[in-house]
Parts: sequence; C-alpha cells; structure tokens
Amino acid sequence: MAAVVVVPCPGDAGCRVTLRAEQPAGLAAPEPCAACGARVELHREVLTPDGGLRGCLACGHPELFSRRHFPRAAGLSIVVVAAVLAPFTAYVSLIVAAAVDALLYRFGPVELRCYVCDAAHRGFAPTPQHPRYDHEIGERLKFGERAVMGKPMRPGGTADAPEPEH
Ligand SMILES: [Zn+2]
Ligand SMILES: [Zn+2]
Repeated sequence: MAAVVVVPCPGDAGCRVTLRAEQPAGLAAPEPCAACGARVELHREVLTPDGGLRGCLACGHPELFSRRHFPRAAGLSIVVVAAVLAPFTAYVSLIVAAAVDALLYRFGPVELRCYVCDAAHRGFAPTPQHPRYDHEIGERLKFGERAVMGKPMRPGGTADAPEPEH
C-alpha cells in the first residue's frame, strides 16, 4: 500500500498540499502550495526503519491519533442509491445501506493525524501504534498552560501509548 501524507497548507487556511509516494523511503517533499507558494519540508527522522511513524512527517510533533479514513463519497453514493430504491424495496434498501456504511466505517483504512498541524498519514506500517483521539492532549496543545484538562506529554509522544480511558 502506498504511503500518503496529506498536509494542510501552512500558509493560509483554505489550501491543502498533498504528496504521494510508493514507500516512505521514496517520499518526496511536497510541491509548494499552488495558491500561496508555502512549502513543507518533511521530518524524515520520525520514520522508523520498518516504515512506521514516531511523529508527524509534516511538523515533527511526536503526538498522533488514529482515525478511520472513511471514504465519504462512497458512503454518500450508497445512501443516494438506497434512497432511490427505497419505494421499490419497501425501504429495506435503507437498512442495507446503513449496514454497509457501518461496515465500511468499522473496517475502513486507518489514518494517523497530527494533533498540531492536522496532517493525515495513510499507508504506513502499523507499528508503533498511536491511540485514538485523546481530548486531554488536544486541550493541552490548544490552550497550553491554561488547559483545564490537559495532561503532560508522555516520553516519546503517542507511539505505543495506551488508548485513552475516556
Ligand atoms: Zn497555500
Ligand atoms: Zn504535524
């Protein structure tokens, strides 16, 4: 599976810089943003020898979270087809569509997202593992010292950290 990093443009809010590569070792630096010319240099030091991630390739931050990368267009087209068929199937098609959507979500590919810059990493080795989103980490990074629920970063960031308890 090809490794992909999708980096939001660091320049201005709306634009996204996308880069693709066959394997992490071959990852090329992304093209400068077509809209504003901003550049992203990759932090290759976060790559493990077997192609996993210890941190964010775009900004180097060591905290990432796992998330299902749900192909929204696929989900939407299933719902549309189900809605069109509904009157002819006594609405069973809607139930089938909901089940298919749930399966897609359950078994869809995982992506690793950076807490800081929101870069999305797909197709990297599954180790080290990064747990799902932890709002205490999000809180600390957003509010810093003023965070009410923030918790200090564990050594090494989220690599192989346990899942959050809440
Ligand atoms: Zn831009
Ligand atoms: Zn980042």
